[in-house]
Amino acid sequence: MFVVVILVLSIVLAFPAPLYRWVTDTPAVVAWAVAATLVPVAVAALAARQALRRLERFPEDPNRGQSVLTHGMRAVHGTLAIGQSGLLLCTNWLLLVARTPVVGDWPVIPALLAISPFLVSALLVWVVSYPADRAVRQIALEAFLFRGRPVQPVWSLRQYVINNVRHQILFILIPMLLIVAARDVIVIYEEPLRRFSGHPYTADLLLGAAAALVALIAPEILRYVWSTRRLPEGPLRDRLTQVCRKLRIRYREILVWRAGSGVVNAAVMGVVAPLRYILLTDGMLEQLDDAKIEAVFGHEAGHVKRHHIFFFLLFAVITGCLVTLFSIHSRHMNSREQQMVGTLLAVVLLFKWSVVFAWISRRFERQADMFGARVLALCGLPCVQPCELHRPEHSNPGPDPLGDALCSTAANVFSNTLNEVAVLNGMPPEGRSWRHGSISSRSRTLLRLAADPAAVASAERTVARIKIAITVVAVVCTAWAGWELKLWELLRHWG
Ligand SMILES: [Zn+2]
Ligand SMILES: [Zn+2]
Repeated sequence: MFVVVILVLSIVLAFPAPLYRWVTDTPAVVAWAVAATLVPVAVAALAARQALRRLERFPEDPNRGQSVLTHGMRAVHGTLAIGQSGLLLCTNWLLLVARTPVVGDWPVIPALLAISPFLVSALLVWVVSYPADRAVRQIALEAFLFRGRPVQPVWSLRQYVINNVRHQILFILIPMLLIVAARDVIVIYEEPLRRFSGHPYTADLLLGAAAALVALIAPEILRYVWSTRRLPEGPLRDRLTQVCRKLRIRYREILVWRAGSGVVNAAVMGVVAPLRYILLTDGMLEQLDDAKIEAVFGHEAGHVKRHHIFFFLLFAVITGCLVTLFSIHSRHMNSREQQMVGTLLAVVLLFKWSVVFAWISRRFERQADMFGARVLALCGLPCVQPCELHRPEHSNPGPDPLGDALCSTAANVFSNTLNEVAVLNGMPPEGRSWRHGSISSRSRTLLRLAADPAAVASAERTVARIKIAITVVAVVCTAWAGWELKLWELLRHWG
């Protein structure tokens, strides 16, 4: 869902006015808004009913019901994305909300009104899909009981919706709305700001600075958008702190993240150490034993040590530069040219975020998986099977857990952890995730890499090339945007 949130908000941010005015009279626009809101809800209701039927008919194979729900939700996200982006780009909806009396002149409010059909639709989708989600979680819960682990009851409808709003919507919406707010305020004061600075593109530069600031402080906001608390003192905290010391990872805090009943997950956020948080869900702390928690923690540590967040931010900088270039040049275009270039930009960005981002993301995840296995070996997981890292000829000066070879025991523990996490979350192991790939392909890949250090080296080289490519494109785009924004005049003026 959060991909759709990013899409909808990016459109609102990048296109202040609709590209195409195919639907202009108010009743038709409103009809579109209503349809774009209700169709995904109908699809979700259908998918939930089908999934429940499957679960009832094949109780011995819950994967069948789960995969119906997974596919159904994908269709829901598709209809949501198409309906909402159509509403924003091809109808007069954006102009209609901007002209709404009283509220239209305030910052942020028009953007909020513009995305309100999306927000309503998402809420209703969760309400109607709750029974199926509940049934799937119930099955996962039985797996918990079977393992003799403590369980939290499956969440109520209210908890489910609130949890989804916090984790799928607010987590994107709040930082993006801050940027929208900055843009709206800058637009209101554009003239005085320009006179003050003596620079023609003051507004664009300020907006860039605001976006960078939001990206930097986002972790501090998100730790409160999500419900988190400090990981209490104890053996686990000591062990994780030790891991970070060994890896020389600095952070602000390790947090327990109350992500809702039985959600087994971890995350890391923040580019700079003073604003970096490592999060582990309470479900994970309850359900996994310490070695597996260390495995997941090692994966997150891999994201930090390999600077993945930094490169994702550079990736976003590229988008920012392209949008800025479009906004500078579209001021001198007629509406046909605007449409052509705008469509081209939209297609490029859609491809960049749906295909390229997912591809890069999967490579980064794989690198973090390898790192997780390395961390397990570094923490002294006893090696119990034939292994490329712990071969006898390596015993002097001793194997390097952070080198190319992976310990096969560590890879095994890591891949078991992945499978266990999938089961606990009620996800089918073969179910593909857009950003992560399927759990079973991840664990297969890791086991294959553990048997073949040359393949590890080649996977690492691929990621290194990706990082170089992102850096080069980001530098070129920044230089180009800087040139067009006449940044040098600003430097001369103030320097
Ligand atoms: Zn990851
Ligand atoms: Zn080993």
